[in-house]
Amino acid sequence: MKCLICGSRMEEKTVTIARIYERQSDIPYALITDVPAEVCHQCGETVYTADVVARLQELSKRIKKGAPSAKTVEVPVYSLDDVAS
Ligand SMILES: [Zn+2]
Repeated sequence: MKCLICGSRMEEKTVTIARIYERQSDIPYALITDVPAEVCHQCGETVYTADVVARLQELSKRIKKGAPSAKTVEVPVYSLDDVAS
């Protein structure tokens, strides 16, 4: 498969994605691992199959309802204001 953005070669990968729910959920942020995707070598464009998208939507629904996670990690938080414009 070729990238629709830049035309470079896409590679099958298993990725981790970050989801931000903020006020929609008791769990404002989550990482989702083991996500199959096609990722562009050149520009990083990431494409999911319709099945993966449906599964991600179902998982997001469960996360928003407070489903327990397999593990929790600490994540550093940065502000762009720390870099002068
Ligand atoms: Zn690309």
